[in-house]
Amino acid sequence: MATERTLSIIKPDATRRNLTGKINAKFEDAGLRIVAQKRIHLTKAQAGEFYKVHAERPFYQELVDFMASEPVVVQVLEGDNAIAKNREVMGATNPADAESGTIRAEFAESVGENSVHGSDAPETAKEEIAYFFSGLELVG
Ligand code: ADP
Repeated sequence: MATERTLSIIKPDATRRNLTGKINAKFEDAGLRIVAQKRIHLTKAQAGEFYKVHAERPFYQELVDFMASEPVVVQVLEGDNAIAKNREVMGATNPADAESGTIRAEFAESVGENSVHGSDAPETAKEEIAYFFSGLELVG
């Protein structure tokens, strides 16, 4: 299995409810290692740029406003098949469809305010990590 890195975001609905530690425990229990992490407050421009792939979707503005509403925790997770494993631990986008035991089943408030983001493919993981972290912040 390939060791990968993926970009994770603990979203404002979760930081507001003080769930960072509980969510990080889910990652660690699944064998993912948190190799970089910081708490930041995105501007609307930064959130809009990050989610630009969804610019034409009807929920885009709502998503941007939400992501810029309060601080988030951005992190790099590392492990075997980290991209797929992280998405498994996150659960389905809509918490109503998420398997029990997943982060979204346990913590998400709605399809929009769903507690976590995780990269969906190697190329996006690389781009998303570079969006938030410099080489100096990533220990090899
Ligand atoms: P995922 O985060 O599971 O990869 P998507 O890439 O489809 O899901 O969507 C990105 C984010 O946009 C979701 O995590 C969620 O916050 C928001 N979103 C997706 N679909 C909806 C929707 N129907 N209504 C409101 N927000 C949505």
